[in-house]
Amino acid sequence: MRSLYWFRSDLRLMDNLALAEAISSSDFLMAVFILTPITWQAHYAAPCKIRFLLDNLKLLSEALWNKGIPLLLRKGPCFSDCPKVLAKLCNEYDIDAIHFNHEYQIDERMRDEGVTTQLASHVTVNTYHQQLVLPPGIVLSKQKTPFKIFTPFKHAWLAKAHEQQAWRTCKAVKKTFKSGLKPDPIPSRLQGFTGQKIDLHWEAGEEAAQKKLNAFCQDKIHDYQKHRDYPNLDGTSQLSPYLAQGVISPRQCITAALEACDIADIDTMNRAEGAATWISELIWRDFYNHIIYFHPNICRHKPYRLKTDDIPWRYDDNLLAAWKNGMTGFPIVDASMRQLLQTGWMHNRLRMVTAMFLSKILLLDWRLGEKHFMQHLIDGDFAANNGGWQWCASTGTDAVPYFRIFNPTTQSQRFDPAGDFIRRFCPELSHLDSKTIHNPFAFGVKLGELPYPQPIVDYKAMRQTTIDVFKRI
Ligand SMILES: Cc1cc2nc3c(=O)[nH]c(=O)nc-3n(C[C@H](O)[C@H](O)[C@H](O)COP(=O)(O)OP(=O)(O)OC[C@H]3O[C@@H](n4cnc5c(N)ncnc54)[C@H](O)[C@@H]3O)c2cc1C
Repeated sequence: MRSLYWFRSDLRLMDNLALAEAISSSDFLMAVFILTPITWQAHYAAPCKIRFLLDNLKLLSEALWNKGIPLLLRKGPCFSDCPKVLAKLCNEYDIDAIHFNHEYQIDERMRDEGVTTQLASHVTVNTYHQQLVLPPGIVLSKQKTPFKIFTPFKHAWLAKAHEQQAWRTCKAVKKTFKSGLKPDPIPSRLQGFTGQKIDLHWEAGEEAAQKKLNAFCQDKIHDYQKHRDYPNLDGTSQLSPYLAQGVISPRQCITAALEACDIADIDTMNRAEGAATWISELIWRDFYNHIIYFHPNICRHKPYRLKTDDIPWRYDDNLLAAWKNGMTGFPIVDASMRQLLQTGWMHNRLRMVTAMFLSKILLLDWRLGEKHFMQHLIDGDFAANNGGWQWCASTGTDAVPYFRIFNPTTQSQRFDPAGDFIRRFCPELSHLDSKTIHNPFAFGVKLGELPYPQPIVDYKAMRQTTIDVFKRI
């Protein structure tokens, strides 16, 4: 059998069922990655994410080549070009079978349908569900409908994951190939994605991802439930950039977490609070992917609760620019937004604070914030980003109630009590004491004493406006 493996957001050799199947069923195997910069731009992919992708591809190519599998690189440049690119490859190399893993956003699904239609008459198309622990359609209510609320979803998910042992990783196949082909060189930059100049804090590749996972499971996982909300403690795994590109799988994460806590199966994960809390976050990842699968309009910029489109969202360029640049006069918001610009990543608690600030305090359209996050996040992932934004803006499924609005100053006092996180990203405030730093002008600093803006809105007044607006709809 002559086979082609198509890599997308599954840039790994380990725990990759599709690749394992391709390897064991073939006597000739080549792999391809298709660069689709025009579609990536339309999806607001961040330059740092694309740089990380290319770095990951380089290491993936080397690892594949050690097994004699050449990774070819082709340019789309759009998703809609993929069927003809793959058809040409199959034709050129006399391919019998193609293998790839499913993705669940609407454009990705349409691309894959196009590929299947184009190839199915002369090539066997083998597809697999590997991006999540449990694919959409597997976790359903007693009425066989998809869940809308996370907690019952989680209970059903745990039961299914246990029943199917779906959290266990699959074994790699030991086999090497002689194809006579050479891998294509991988560029380190891609035109159109060079604007954002930041030093990447993440080392590329499967090995680096595994090292990070092991380090987290040896240590931080045990106190994850206590530390995860404190941005200055670095108590989370920071594995999101790897998970977003499939350099590591959620099953590898769960297996490592349970092993670290000496737990034999996922149905007893609650015996270790840290691991259970962390695995719950991975279940949120599945949940949001199921939501976008069953509600594809979400991928077309629609809110889950359509009625919330009646909210008179604002489109004020000055407010938006102040939020984007970390110049709102609310230190925790500004430090977080600067963390995003400087590192391409933001802590989860801060994503919630800043997203709620944009949507509920500035009353700006949450989609403006969703887009800005995608344009800068190294871990930009449509389902998680959209899910997070719609949760904060109270437009989504199982979202925060509309009247629950985080007070940035209180959040700051609670989760960055000494103000050290703020000091890291707002050096102009670093000399302030741990009380004043959370809201300088309210706690005694006089106008003109700091090179820092006054709050751009009156928090209390805007909070009330937002509640009134939501109440009306
Ligand atoms: C407004 C907003 C936007 C977000 N955008 C993204 C995004 O683009 N990409 C992204 O991966 N996550 C996003 N998240 C979820 C979460 O903030 C990040 O996954 C997390 O901060 C990544 O850090 P970590 O790897 O240390 O997470 P950990 O706490 O170690 O969690 C482990 C993994 O679980 C998954 N996860 C954690 N929390 C969530 C969640 N709430 N929803 C879905 N998956 C989750 C991630 O894959 C994460 O790497 C967003 C959240 C909000 C509120």
